[in-house]
Formats: sequence, structure tokens, C-alpha cells
Amino acid sequence: NDVLTLEKLEKCYNRGKPGEISVLRGVNLTIPRGQVVALVAPSGAGKSTLLHIAGLLDTPDSGRVAINGQELSGASDRRRTEARRNELGFVYQFHHLLPEFTAEENVMLPQLANGAGKAAARARAGALLDRVGLSGRIDHRPSALSGGEQQRVAFCRALANAPSLLLADEPTGNLDPATSDTVFGVLMDLVRETGMSALIATHNLDLAARMDRVLRLEAGALTE
Ligand code: ADP
Ligand code: ADP
Repeated sequence: NDVLTLEKLEKCYNRGKPGEISVLRGVNLTIPRGQVVALVAPSGAGKSTLLHIAGLLDTPDSGRVAINGQELSGASDRRRTEARRNELGFVYQFHHLLPEFTAEENVMLPQLANGAGKAAARARAGALLDRVGLSGRIDHRPSALSGGEQQRVAFCRALANAPSLLLADEPTGNLDPATSDTVFGVLMDLVRETGMSALIATHNLDLAARMDRVLRLEAGALTE
């Protein structure tokens, strides 16, 4: 019942060329259902590389990536895209919402792309936005929302297709400390309620301490 399994991941950039850098040197990680894991890493340690490989956006040189027991590191692009859409949710430091669409539409779009009907997608978007305290903001475009509100919409979008694993890269890194604290609490509540698993990169050790488990990425490997 493991949602994510990474086995012996190796990743090197510029192999055999000047600037060769071995970023992952045997990364192993198992995340069971419902577990929320903090990933702490100094800048340049390979945090983004690790999240991209776990998120099926990049491939390792060797090693295994399994999502819900399905081995996907060597799978076709089609299967990997399907898994990204159905089983993974992504949140970044910057919201990456589509500027020309409203909050509600931004949360509807991944559902429509997955074949949901418009009414169902709207209903789910409304429920999610309500859950994060944005029921009064559903018709606003991102530019009309505060940083904390934009990020809350981004959480709803990430959860729109009810993924089993959330991958987040400094999800509140762009916010001032007080807002970051509140908005992070909203994210944790959402994750706990849905019972999903999460791998959340953060520099903030107070936030990391609120998760189930803290891992450090250093010298190409993970330590508890
Ligand atoms: P982090 O997210 O922890 O800052 P990254 O995973 O972005 O680290 O990068 C780890 C190391 O790999 C850095 O030294 C970075 O410069 C290098 N790197 C990342 N992506 C590439 C790439 N596409 N080509 C060459 N080097 C890269
Ligand atoms: P499509 O082009 O059909 O939307 P993609 O492969 O681009 O399919 O997207 C599938 C999923 O992966 C989407 O939910 C998207 O958010 C995510 N995704 C795609 N590319 C990236 C990326 N570079 N960084 C983060 N998430 C991505």
C-alpha cells in the first residue's frame, strides 16, 4: 500500500563532459498511503531533480520509480502522462495559475482535461475553493487575488483530480512568514482530510516539523 517508491535512483548531468555533476547517488524512498514527508535540502542539492523524477517529468539514469505499485520509470510517455494527470498533484513556489481564467475555471480545467463534465467540474471546484475559504473569490482572476489566495487556488487545482500523491516545491516560499504559516495550515488540512500522501520540499524547519517525517537530501542521498 505504498503510494511512492523510489529505488536506487541515480542522476548525473553532463556525463563525460565538463561540468559533469552527479546529483542523485542512490536515492531510496517509500511513502505509504497518508504519510506526509518533508524534504529539506540545501540549494543545489538536487531537490528539484528528485521532485521532477518522482513527478514523472524527468527520468533517472538508473533506478526505479513506482506510483501506487506501478513501475513507471521505463513506461511509455502516454502512461506517464496518464499517471501524472490521475495520480499526482503539483504545487510550486509560484502559483502558475492561468491569468485569463477565474479561480473557479483554473480548478475546473484539470478536471475537464480528464474528461469530467462541466457541471461536475464546477461543483468540485466550488467545494474545494469553499474548503480553503475562497467561496467569495471564485470569479476573480489570479491578478485580483492576494499571494496567499493565489496559492490556495493552486492547492485546489492540484487536488482537483483527487490525486493520491501531492508533490510540492516550496509551496509557501513566496509568501511572508505569517501568511505562509496560515496557508501551509490550509494545505496540511486539505492533505489530511483527503488522506493523500505528500512529498513537500521546504527550507522552513518549523513547517517541516509539522509533517510526519523529515528527510534531508545531501551528497546525493536521503537521510531521516
Ligand atoms: P535544487 O533544486 O536542490 O536547488 P537542482 O535539482 O535544481 O537542485 O540541481 C542540482 C544540481 O544539478 C545543481 O548543481 C544544478 O546546477 C545541476 N543541474 C540541474 N539541472 C541541470 C541540467 N538540466 N543540466 C545540468 N545541470 C543541472
Ligand atoms: P497536457 O499537455 O495534455 O496537459 P502534460 O503532460 O503537459 O499534458 O501534463 C500532464 C500533467 O503534468 C498536468 O497535470 C501538468 O500540470 C503536469 N505537468 C506537465 N508538465 C509539467 C512541468 N514542467 N512541471 C510541472 N507539472 C507539469
